[in-house]
Amino acid sequence: MPLTPEQQAEIDDARANPRPTLRAVAEGMERHLYVAHPVLDHGLIRVIDYMGDDSAIVQAARVSYGRGTKAVSNDEGLIRYLMRHWHSTPFEMCEVKFHVKLPVFVARQWIRHRTANVNEYSARYSILDREFYIPAPEHLAAQSKVNNQGRGEVLAGAEAQRVLDLLREDSMRSYDHYEGMLSQDGQQGLARELARMNLPANIYTQWYWKTDLHNLFHFLRLRADAHAQYEIRAYAELMCRITADWVPLAYAAFEDYRLGGTALSARGVEALKRRLAGETVTQETSGMSKGEWREFEGVWG
Ligand SMILES: Cc1cc2nc3c(=O)[nH]c(=O)nc-3n(C[C@H](O)[C@H](O)[C@H](O)COP(=O)(O)OP(=O)(O)OC[C@H]3O[C@@H](n4cnc5c(N)ncnc54)[C@H](O)[C@@H]3O)c2cc1C
Repeated sequence: MPLTPEQQAEIDDARANPRPTLRAVAEGMERHLYVAHPVLDHGLIRVIDYMGDDSAIVQAARVSYGRGTKAVSNDEGLIRYLMRHWHSTPFEMCEVKFHVKLPVFVARQWIRHRTANVNEYSARYSILDREFYIPAPEHLAAQSKVNNQGRGEVLAGAEAQRVLDLLREDSMRSYDHYEGMLSQDGQQGLARELARMNLPANIYTQWYWKTDLHNLFHFLRLRADAHAQYEIRAYAELMCRITADWVPLAYAAFEDYRLGGTALSARGVEALKRRLAGETVTQETSGMSKGEWREFEGVWG
């Protein structure tokens, strides 16, 4: 179960007692407030709070441009202009705070994003729940043969069963030992901060994660990308949908210029120009490495 009964009671109470506000409200985000969206087998994401909407971005940008904004007078055009020209500070005027429940190995990737404020569940203070991430069959895959940092063929039959059994057994045995080591039930045992040492990286942790929209976009650009590991991507893709509901104009610009767009090196620009002029350009004549050329052809054919 992703939420404890206490957390659910808190949510029900908060939703049952709405308060009027003079602050900007994004209707799309109000629908997400406090709602726990399930992710993976025991994980969740819920929006705890947010500040600002599309108009907050525009408002901040108009402070810097003043009368000069006449040329890009509509909000959508201005937001697209800001995104296109990497004028990022207006996006920092919007903030969001998530409650995330995630496996520890996903948390290790996530925490590398330093431009956020994080407060994590304390396993020194509290006893962790017996909740472990066990991949669904379609995500149980062998090492990729072409990508050292990725997975390839999905396991089937006896091999899938064998690794699933190992994962489950190890998780349960480690947790049994963790419980067996805790200073409780009259035994001296170990402090929580020490007993947790033997727990595997697929155990779940929880945190509050607060960031601004500019840094959220940076996170989503990297973690909703096909190169990101599936497990963190599952969170990022859900956060994309939430963000689209929160700031639809800014998200559409992000989707267009960052998620769907591509960057070209100077050599890439040159190769493209030569191709458009009718020349047959190869990896050898492009000046690009094999890897670069593969990526170039991946986008441009
Ligand atoms: C597909 C993928 C594979 C990865 N593989 C590995 C790996 O094998 N090993 C590994 O260690 N990491 C790996 N990472 C993590 C990656 O190197 C980054 O640490 C992570 O994505 C966070 O990015 P960031 O630093 O831009 O984000 P943030 O920490 O949120 O920073 C945002 C931006 O702020 C600026 N900034 C923040 N802090 C500083 C600082 N101290 N100095 C200067 N500028 C700063 C930078 O411009 C940065 O881009 C991987 C990430 C991805 C997406």
